[in-house]
Amino acid sequence: MLVLTSPGTDAYRQADVEVAAALAGQGMVAYENARLFSQVHHLATVDGLTGIANRRHFFDAGRRELALARRRGTSLAAVMLDIDHFKKINDTYGHQVGDDVIRGVVARLRAESRETDVLGRYGGEEFAVLLPDIGDGAVDAAERLRTAVAVAPIETAAGPVAVTISVGVAHLAAADTEPDGLLARADESLYLAKQGGRNRVVVHAGPHPPATLPAEPA
Ligand code: GH3
Ligand code: MG
Ligand code: MG
Repeated sequence: MLVLTSPGTDAYRQADVEVAAALAGQGMVAYENARLFSQVHHLATVDGLTGIANRRHFFDAGRRELALARRRGTSLAAVMLDIDHFKKINDTYGHQVGDDVIRGVVARLRAESRETDVLGRYGGEEFAVLLPDIGDGAVDAAERLRTAVAVAPIETAAGPVAVTISVGVAHLAAADTEPDGLLARADESLYLAKQGGRNRVVVHAGPHPPATLPAEPA
């Protein structure tokens, strides 16, 4: 509804009303376009099940974080994590409960993350977190994520289900110009965490903090 008011009487003629209606109509179209654009943008960047960044959007954010860390000479760590024996959860309780578990894990990861951390759904039940400016605290942060999941069963439609995650950590190296290498190293560590018995954090043997890079000249 659009209301036109004036302190005077008989301020508007029919023609004025029509002009106002035409302008309001155009405004409505612009508003609707903006709403649709924002909806499409949301669908293209956010994972529907968990509400965190999808893989593509996570990589976009990762490129930005990496560029910022390089420019500022600050640290950046990547964490890759995967739910342990998730197939068994699906097989035992069904896909729906599997989805509940994925949502529950993400809720705990979110609660444990800083506002500036970038959280993404990397694959089915595999997630990645970027920890900007974490210094030498990445392993502790990863351990907090692991504990937050393991500490208590996750509520699902079939009741509480005990869940653990395996976690790999890697630090930014001077040679990294794209997030791919950093994430690949975190993934290697995740693999070792699985090999080592799961429900654990493994940090990559490569670059370690304080591997802060010299800030790039402005
Ligand atoms: P591991 O400890 O080695 O990780 O064992 P795992 O059983 O978790 O093995 P893997 O990580 O390979 O399992 C992935 C399974 O996750 C297979 C796939 O059916 C299931 N999955 C992938 N995406 C979804 C999803 O969105 N919802 C549900 N319910 N299951 C999914
Ligand atoms: Mg798994
Ligand atoms: Mg997996």
